[in-house]
Amino acid sequence: MLPLQDPLPILQRAGQTGQLLEQLSSQQAVCAATAPLPMTGAEMRDRGWDQVDVVFVSGDAYVDHPSFAMAILGRILEAAGFRVGMLSQPDWRSCEAWREFGRPRLFYAISAGNMDSMINHYTANRKVRNDDAYSPGGRIGLRPDRATLAYCQRAREAYRGVPVIAGGVEASLRRLAHYDYWGDKVRRSILLDCKADLLAFGMGEELILEIARRLDAGQTPRELRDMRGVAYAMGASETPPEDALTLPSYEDVLADKMAFARATKMIHNETNPYNARRLIQWHDRQAVVANPPTLPISEGSMDAVYGLPYTRRPHPSYSEPIPAFEMIKDSVTIMRGCFGGCTFCSITTHQGRIIQSRSRQSVQAEVTALAADKEFKGVISDVGGPTANMYQMRCVRPEVEAVCRRQSCVHPTICKLLGTDHGPLVQLMQDARETPGIKQVFVASGIRMDLARRSPQYMRELTQHHVGGHLKVAPEHTDPHVLNQMRKPANDDFEAFAEIFKKESKRANKKQYLIPYYIASHPGSDLGAMIDLAIFLKQSGYRPDQVQDFIPAPFDVATAMYYTGVNPFTGKPVHIARHLRDRKLQRALMQFFKPENYFEVRKALEKAGRQDLIGGGCDCLIPAQPPREAIEERRRKAHASQEGRYVHAIDGKNDSPENKNRRQSRNKPGAGYRPTRPSARKGDGSEGGQRRRRKK
Ligand code: SF4
Repeated sequence: MLPLQDPLPILQRAGQTGQLLEQLSSQQAVCAATAPLPMTGAEMRDRGWDQVDVVFVSGDAYVDHPSFAMAILGRILEAAGFRVGMLSQPDWRSCEAWREFGRPRLFYAISAGNMDSMINHYTANRKVRNDDAYSPGGRIGLRPDRATLAYCQRAREAYRGVPVIAGGVEASLRRLAHYDYWGDKVRRSILLDCKADLLAFGMGEELILEIARRLDAGQTPRELRDMRGVAYAMGASETPPEDALTLPSYEDVLADKMAFARATKMIHNETNPYNARRLIQWHDRQAVVANPPTLPISEGSMDAVYGLPYTRRPHPSYSEPIPAFEMIKDSVTIMRGCFGGCTFCSITTHQGRIIQSRSRQSVQAEVTALAADKEFKGVISDVGGPTANMYQMRCVRPEVEAVCRRQSCVHPTICKLLGTDHGPLVQLMQDARETPGIKQVFVASGIRMDLARRSPQYMRELTQHHVGGHLKVAPEHTDPHVLNQMRKPANDDFEAFAEIFKKESKRANKKQYLIPYYIASHPGSDLGAMIDLAIFLKQSGYRPDQVQDFIPAPFDVATAMYYTGVNPFTGKPVHIARHLRDRKLQRALMQFFKPENYFEVRKALEKAGRQDLIGGGCDCLIPAQPPREAIEERRRKAHASQEGRYVHAIDGKNDSPENKNRRQSRNKPGAGYRPTRPSARKGDGSEGGQRRRRKK
């Protein structure tokens, strides 16, 4: 096995890795669109191909737009000369679909899609969602639960010996032992269940290209174990690398919550690509190894990625709209990564905390191309990324950045070494809105308010030109203790931002408002904290129309808090709203003004001993008497809970003709309930009853 470099050579290589992608860059900043990649064997043959090199399997619909990882990775491989087949939302019940393109020459690339399949399928209350934004028509049921497992297994069945590489958010966040909220247990590394040869974590452009090139050159998946950004499972007889940091084993984290918290802290301390160490976690006699993350890609590589010839449309075979595409079709991504390090968010873990930005020319070329599109209506819905205002920001001292192990560059305070110049972003926004054919450019990505306040010029530009009546912001909570657990700035920060926003909107003579987003039931949040939040909302006049419930996603620090009840970084206990009834109360408090929440809010206030907030006073959250709508809603819920089918059958489970006959046979004479049967109840006047009575 090739050894990984020590920190210094890795730092010096930072700009070089980008060359792998920059070689793909075409003459133009944004290429003219070409046909989408083939989704069927027929489309493959239409291209004159008899085989593909890579089959990309995804749980999402195939949308050839750079907001979708599947499109980016497919186009990169295509640009490098590889033939790629896109197997989108295949029927996983058999491996037949995996044979659509024949045997792939190099490998199967497997992804559950843009989201973890369990988050995609279930709500925070573990109920099945009604729709799937990444499927045509928003239909559910087009991908299985834990899609990575099913897809990898089908790939193995389809063609033995073809390497299987798992990637995407689901595989990334489950690469080591993790807490799974939906099963309410600690699961082992996904590698051991899906049996992939390699797992590629983080952003995969350079990875997939290097994997394809090295497999094409005749290397085996085992020889790729020296790459950054990959994890792999070793055989029981193999010797693990000696330079790795050993995490508490799967058996330890399963048995001991404190070991789980320790493992979480160790994993998150090894996320800076410049100083991260290789990690090993034993699962019985097998070691799972996770190499350090990939280095950030250069500006040239970012331009190359976003300059590929996307059609910016779903594959033409789809007849129904794809909700996620409808939302982002007119948006422009300008950067990736986030140095916020919020404990409930996976972006820093997945995309990295070092910001990778496109050049001004590349963004402008995409805006110009968009303006020339016949279907474009002149309004860019978003210019942003994971965060709207981190464009081209980074640590001003690369030598310090290379050894830094802080979890966030902006919490508890903004690091004095962080460059926070908004100038390049302001320039970008000006360029975009002045482009011929562009009527309006909005900012819809989340704004980091503590940074935005540092730039009066940015605040002015934003409020004057880029807000469509409402600006969504995410203060997430008001309680200092909860905000600290989240690694979010204090509520004063939001209030100061709101003040500036109001002033600038008035100056621009515009009526526009903030829509703050808050999370209920986050670790640390108890009823008292939520009541304080409700009081703040009432006093400030905010009425959130949506409630976000905390979802413990795999790998997050907040998830470790939820599972263990302690903050892994401080070791201090954290309050957890674990039961559904507690979560319901927290959710209701956030929308205390809704009549249908009256009884829940009242219960919460009584439970917390805050009856002073019930009544007619101007400080009260709810009136003393329930409004009519609240009573009607309670009645409706009571009726709904009593409604039911009194048939002992499960829909769809017994629809085979054989079972149908069996069910019908219960209605035939001599079957099912008969008053004359021997077991008929005593005293029912039936023959059986009379017989039993006679016996007695
Ligand atoms: S030194 Fe400060 S700005 Fe630089 S990486 Fe560390 S926290 Fe971020």
